[in-house]
Amino acid sequence: AGEIQAQDVDALKIHMPLCMEHLHDELRREKHTKHGGRMQYGLFLKGIGLSLEQALIFWQTAFANKSPDEFNKQYAYNVRHSYGMEGKRTDYTPYSCKSIIMGSAPGVGDHHGCPFRHFSAPNLRAKLAAHQVDEFDTEDILGLVGAKHYQIACTRYYEVTRARMIGGSPDTLRGGSGSALASGQGAGSEFRVASQEQIEHPNQFFEQSYKLMQ
Ligand code: SF4
Repeated sequence: AGEIQAQDVDALKIHMPLCMEHLHDELRREKHTKHGGRMQYGLFLKGIGLSLEQALIFWQTAFANKSPDEFNKQYAYNVRHSYGMEGKRTDYTPYSCKSIIMGSAPGVGDHHGCPFRHFSAPNLRAKLAAHQVDEFDTEDILGLVGAKHYQIACTRYYEVTRARMIGGSPDTLRGGSGSALASGQGAGSEFRVASQEQIEHPNQFFEQSYKLMQ
């Protein structure tokens, strides 16, 4: 996605999957994020193109209750570390859905994890309602979650919400025949970009959504 500035991140939230949107919202609300969330969200942001320099600005600004001095002492090292600039100099990559879903479950006050895997049904329902997912699709998604098909549930969420964003039907975003493509609505590029079988990675969700809207 090229050069992303720290101040661009809020506007890019519309392209984020629920896991990252949740981390972003809670970061803004609490002006803080625990370690697990910082790793999950920080590496995601790195993956969408936030440079180390911009990441330091992003996190320092986000932790508005910390003085620059406190931030530098307590958090800057970890940000640099995740960009491979400290310690063993491992250049960490963003977490995949599988590693988030199978990873440590969020405890009290944690916001990392996958909402499809880790939210209670009422919380997930509320989140879906906030994104105007209708009753029919909500039941569909909760059914997939009940069957432990978390990534398929996320894919369904992608199709429903992105279709609305581009003013089409979810079929436009599916790989099957009988889509809007066949009815000659000129949806070829959208179709190509989004003909994924399943969301495998939060950054894949983001990139696809981002491209879809260009
Ligand atoms: Fe995030 Fe993946 Fe869960 Fe979707 S399935 S919310 S992208 S971890």
